[in-house]
This record gives sequence, C-alpha cells and structure tokens, in this order.
Amino acid sequence: MGASADAAADALVEGVLGGRRRALAQAITLAESSRADDRDRAEALLDALTPHAGGAIRIGISGAPGVGKSTFIEALGRLLTDDAHRLAVLAVDPSSAIGGGAILADKTRMETLARNPRAYIRPSPSGTTLGGVARRTREAVVICEAAGFDVVIVETVGVGQSETAVAGMTDVFVLLLSPAGGDELQGIKRGIVELADVVLVTKADGELAGAALRAAGEYRHALDLLQPRLRGWQVPVLTCSALEGTGIEDAWRTIERCHAHLHDSGRLRERRTEQQRAWLWSEMSEQLLAAMRADPAAAARLAEVEQAVAAGDMPPAVAARRLVEAFLRRARD
Ligand code: GDP
Repeated sequence: MGASADAAADALVEGVLGGRRRALAQAITLAESSRADDRDRAEALLDALTPHAGGAIRIGISGAPGVGKSTFIEALGRLLTDDAHRLAVLAVDPSSAIGGGAILADKTRMETLARNPRAYIRPSPSGTTLGGVARRTREAVVICEAAGFDVVIVETVGVGQSETAVAGMTDVFVLLLSPAGGDELQGIKRGIVELADVVLVTKADGELAGAALRAAGEYRHALDLLQPRLRGWQVPVLTCSALEGTGIEDAWRTIERCHAHLHDSGRLRERRTEQQRAWLWSEMSEQLLAAMRADPAAAARLAEVEQAVAAGDMPPAVAARRLVEAFLRRARD
C-alpha cells in the first residue's frame, strides 16, 4: 500500500471514530464491496475499528411484511434520540440476496428517522447469499459501534432463515406480531418464536385495540408451552401502537431490562462469545469456498463434476470430496 493510500485509510478510521456520517457511509460501502482490493482495505479498517466496538445494545427486530416494523422503529427512534441516544438501523433482507424486489429497501421507509442527525439508517446490502448479506451486516454493526452509536437495531423480515442470522448477531431479539392472533402464530415458524426474547403485538389502537389485547393473551399462552431461550427470563408479550405512540416506552424499558438481565447473569458475554466463534467459522467456510471458486483448475473441474452429478453419474459426496482433495493438494504444492 502506498503512502497516500495509507493516509486515506487513516483518515477513514479517524472519520468513523469521529462519528462523521460521510466516513461512516464510506466505510460500510467498503465493507460491502466484493472486489478483492476493497476487501483488503475493509479488513484493515475493521482491524483498526474493532477495539472501539462492542459498546452498543444490539437489538434484532423481526416480523412479517406489513406488521409495522418500520413504523415501530421510527417511533422507538424518536424516543431514543430525544433521550440523547444515537441509533443505527441496519437491515438483513433475504429478498435482496435472492434478487428481485427487496422487501426492506423501500426508500420511503423511516423518512423522519432518516433525517434525524442522531440516527443512521442503512438498507440491506445486496448479495448472492443470505450468508454474504449477514456477513456484511455484522461488519456494519462493528463500524456503527466504533462511530459511537449506542443502540444498533438489525431489522429483518419474518419469512425465512434471516431471523437466525440476525439473532446470531444481536443481544436481544424482538419479534413483532400483528393483532390477527393465534392463527398467525401457527403460520410463523416455531423456530422464529423460540428465538424471541420479547414479543410485541403491534397496531393496538382504534378498532384493533381489543384484538391486540386478545392476541397478546394467546401468544402469552402459546409461549408458556415453549422452552424459554434464556433461563430466568419469561418472554414478555406487550402491546403497542406506533401510530399513537403508546407502549413504545414500555417496549424500550423491557428491552433494556432484558439486556440488563443478560449482562447480570453473564449470558451477554456468553452470547457474544458464541456469536464471535460462529462468525469465525462462517468466515472460514465462505473464504474457503471463495478460494476454491477462484482457483482456475478447481473451477474447470467443478464444471465437469457438476455435470456428472447433475446427470446422476456421480454421488455429490464423492464429487465434493474429489474437488476438495484436489484443491488441497494444489494448495500444498
Ligand atoms: P413493515 O413492513 O413491517 O415495516 O410495516 P410498516 O411499518 O410499513 O407498516 C405497514 C402498515 O401498517 C402501514 O400501512 C402502517 O401505516 C400500518 N401501521 C404500522 N404501525 C401501525 C400502528 O401502530 N397502528 C395502526 N393502526 N397501523 C399501523
């Protein structure tokens, strides 16, 4: 790296640590880039920023499209920024990995919060795999924390495996459910409900107020039957209305209480340690696969072997072993 590139890298680190938005946006863009030279710079940047990260309350928020996630985050964001917090909102959108219309990238979402100088909103990076999208979002969390944000929300849509990814990078996982009631709980994968530390029934206002209360009762009952994710923490089921601003403060206090419980019981440290370890392993598998794909000899063989597997002429396990062994032999030589 030349002297001017070094100076630019230092300036970017300083800019992020100083909380400057332009530097923050540049740093996240760099981390999202898949170009090899950008990747080197991104890793140097993350290396410099990591000692300054880790200080935020990391909150995962999930719920089906239309349940009221962005309206809730706007209302919570207003409360937090009025209270001198600095809030970053990041998204993990499985649809942005599959291509086609991203569910969470809509530019009109969270308009007021987007203009708030104490808040920073970043739509989901696009990627070819959910793993790739999640990986970049983890790095964005580190960058935002180094920039001084003390609350980081990672939002996702309650439709796929993205919840597991988000629960794997946050401290407290909040599930938003609609007042439609128990029927919906049937439709939502049980695994997602089991990840929840806090459940919030949205839209508890006007004609829906009664239904929201009934739904909360049903969810409470259903949750009683599940193994709690955290020992000593009965998952609270609350109602709120982001439109009327009711229940938002209570939701925040509950999230804070959950975080304090995690901290005091030693589980926060454990959760984050487990998450770091899982991140390491997923980085290793991603990087190994990328190295295999980038290897010209392996790529040529891969095409051949893939065809044989597709035609049913070779068992996938045998094909994979041959490819991996050939790659490792070449790497050793
Ligand atoms: P998202 O897709 O989960 O982000 O949902 P949105 O926040 O975009 O909300 C979807 C729809 O529900 C919008 O039409 C909102 O106006 C409406 N909505 C959101 N929050 C509330 C609420 O607290 N009460 C009512 N009555 N409607 C709400």
